[in-house]
Amino acid sequence: MSVVGFDVGNLQSVIAVARNRGIDIVANEVSNRATPSMVSFGSKQRYIGESAKNQEMSNFKNTVIGLKRLIGRSFNDPEVAEFEQQFIGGKLCDVNGEVGVEVSYLDEVTKVSATQLYAMYLGKLRDITAKELNGSVSDVVISVPGWYTDRQRRAVLQASKIAGLNPLRLINDNAAAALGYGITKTDLPEDKARNVVFVDLGHSSFSVSVVAFKKGELTVKAVAYDRNVGGRNFDKALLDHFVQVFNEKYKIDVRTKDKAMVRLLAACEKLKKILSANASAPITVENLMNDIDASAMYSRDEFVELIEPLLQRLEAPIKQAISDANLSADEIHSIELVGGSIRIPAVKKRLTDFFGRELSYTLNQDEAVARGCAFQCAIASPVFRVRDFAIHDVTAHPIRFQWEASQGSDDTQLDVFGRYNTIPSTKMLTFYRKQPFTIEAYYADPAHLPQGTNPWIARFDVKNVEATATGDLSTIKVKARLDQSGVLNITSAYTVEEIEVEEPVPQAEPKEGEEAAAPEMRKVKKLQKKADLPVSQASQCLDNETLTALAKKEQEMHKTDALVFETEHAKNSLEEYIYEIRGKVEGDCSAYVDPSERDGFLSRLMEAEDWLYEDGEDTTKAAYVEKLATLKAVGDPIVERSREDRERPVAARELREII
Ligand code: ATP
Ligand code: MG
Repeated sequence: MSVVGFDVGNLQSVIAVARNRGIDIVANEVSNRATPSMVSFGSKQRYIGESAKNQEMSNFKNTVIGLKRLIGRSFNDPEVAEFEQQFIGGKLCDVNGEVGVEVSYLDEVTKVSATQLYAMYLGKLRDITAKELNGSVSDVVISVPGWYTDRQRRAVLQASKIAGLNPLRLINDNAAAALGYGITKTDLPEDKARNVVFVDLGHSSFSVSVVAFKKGELTVKAVAYDRNVGGRNFDKALLDHFVQVFNEKYKIDVRTKDKAMVRLLAACEKLKKILSANASAPITVENLMNDIDASAMYSRDEFVELIEPLLQRLEAPIKQAISDANLSADEIHSIELVGGSIRIPAVKKRLTDFFGRELSYTLNQDEAVARGCAFQCAIASPVFRVRDFAIHDVTAHPIRFQWEASQGSDDTQLDVFGRYNTIPSTKMLTFYRKQPFTIEAYYADPAHLPQGTNPWIARFDVKNVEATATGDLSTIKVKARLDQSGVLNITSAYTVEEIEVEEPVPQAEPKEGEEAAAPEMRKVKKLQKKADLPVSQASQCLDNETLTALAKKEQEMHKTDALVFETEHAKNSLEEYIYEIRGKVEGDCSAYVDPSERDGFLSRLMEAEDWLYEDGEDTTKAAYVEKLATLKAVGDPIVERSREDRERPVAARELREII
């Protein structure tokens, strides 16, 4: 059984697996320790991860990025339509209430939802992992931003199911990084907690969390975010700048050509990275537009000035987290950094200034979150024995329940899970009703949700409610649970009744020498569970039928990709065999083939080679396999005869030596 963690990043994702020796990062098919978070569609197959990245320039309209930003969002959220669209080449659209992308797949215009795209990508991470582990992958823990809503969390869980995975739980990425820190530290205090601040500046978002560590446990004390600042915003600032510079310098408007924009954006990201290590650097894009090779010099100082408004935005979440955690500066042990954009010297400087102290670099900033995910999977997995580490994480968004007023009570709402409520958490609510009733769950503070998010979470219908035998209101207990993935459910509802029981009255201990008096009995009323009530639930996620259909569809697409891959492989094998056997028949093995047979075979090889460039250029796997088999039927015996002959004297010599 696999123990796997996926840190799904907006730009790239990292896979970690727990093994008996510890936690390892899994490299992908081109030996990279991070895999581009991209899905691309072609006329024969999909390309996911590295192969999508290779297609990015030539097939940008059908290459989808930003998977993490789109999942569980609506097409008509202004933030999606206006903000996210500017980072995505493909055309966003609505797919049954969720945002999706319109792409050309198998030469047809197809709409794929963000959940499907995420599932496709998870399928790729699954395949990379399975190859490394030499077995199938099922149990997994996936990181999500702490600010994800219920809908986004459910969507990731559903995407995992579509990809045939068994998500043991989701984990907030700041908690995963904290776990990645905690498990490596052997000197955590037993009593007075060590407070560590984690700062994560990735590709699309910024988060700050304050975490208290003790031996074997961590408690998240505060979290704050700017969901919309990260490396891609720096790239975008550079892009806008160079669009203008090249417009003035070469009189070209790069914005009029999508492909030129994509190429310039890639050059900007490269420039940004070079400026992290150099005071100035050139930006060059050959044949950017109209046969013009565009280039310019750019300095780190100019870059810092350009991104100043973005750097300023780092301060508010830091202030918020520190103030929510209610800690003085000297109570903070260290500030640990996570995320690729931390490498920018101006970011480091700004953070040092804000905190007024040196930063700490004990974590692997690119892999800490994935390691935390794998470790969490090991803790949650029934098959893996691991030192326990308790995580007390919190929810970022307060949740309110609303219902219709009923007889005898004007209450119509309650904030059931406040901001910073621990997850997981269970709350018991009491209702007095004679009839079935409905509870609607909402986010109580919509201003802090991703912009445009519908604050409605779910509707719960509590059924089969009746008056008591005496015609009074029934007492109903409802158990609400925010589970460890941060997903809300009503796990049970039931009626209770008051019963009278006799119990002994508690007595004072008899004084020394006194005899204990005979126990007095009294009647007390107690609540006892009477009957379970069914609860039906509606939320903004896919129903089971759709989920099953999408899983099936995903399997079919996966099969199509696999067939294309196998067909390519069969074609390559045939091509290789033709060259190899011709070389042998004309060379080493020429003595082992009858001259009359030899010419016939060589001309068949020539025919097969020609066929590969004509009718056989693009045909079925079966056709390649068959052609290879017919050639091997003649070629292999020749090679075999030559091998036997070469080995014979050796065998005879060995025999002599033994004798
Ligand atoms: P997110 O956490 O926002 O979902 P992510 O996890 O994919 O995104 P990371 O891998 O943490 O993001 O960081 C990627 C970002 O870091 C990119 O914007 C990349 O350009 C930037 N980056 C990586 N190396 C450097 C560098 N040397 N200098 C500047 N920026 C860098
Ligand atoms: Mg990240």
